[in-house]
Amino acid sequence: MRIDSSNIILDPNPVLREKAREVPLPLSDEDRQTLTDMLEYVRNSHDEEFCKEYNVRASVGIAAPQIGLSRKMLAISIADEDSSVEFALVNPRIIANSTKKSYLENGEACLSVVPDVEGIVPRYARITVRAYNLLDDQVEDIRLSGYPAIVMQHEIDHLYGKLYYDHINKNNPWMEPLNAIPI
Ligand code: ZN
Repeated sequence: MRIDSSNIILDPNPVLREKAREVPLPLSDEDRQTLTDMLEYVRNSHDEEFCKEYNVRASVGIAAPQIGLSRKMLAISIADEDSSVEFALVNPRIIANSTKKSYLENGEACLSVVPDVEGIVPRYARITVRAYNLLDDQVEDIRLSGYPAIVMQHEIDHLYGKLYYDHINKNNPWMEPLNAIPI
């Protein structure tokens, strides 16, 4: 199935607030196909022409609840000057994190949250994630910092029913967290 914007579940659909279920390993053919389709969506969304032609919104990550599947799977594809990484993860969990925080100076956005909610989203500056990575066909520990760490926390949040704006200070959305690294 090719995923396009018509398949993306929008807030406040309750599936976005559910805790997603663990996915059995080894992956079934169906789960493998779904995760591959998710990664394709994100990859293709970097291409402006493709986005126009196929009704796709630019993104760097997607989690299964965003296509209506309450299952612990996520795909990330980041292709910029500083960091170029891809992940297709099953049952990811954060097993270690820095006390230091970090945040995107311009705030975050989400395929499922329209329009954008503005404000600073504090995240851990560094994390270690344990997951089965379809791209390497193994369970691995992935250490991330900077932008990829923020994207990963955003996507993992989706698997626990959280949305980025839950973390924004309601009274002062642009208040900078203390000792945090802006990105
Ligand atoms: Zn999102």
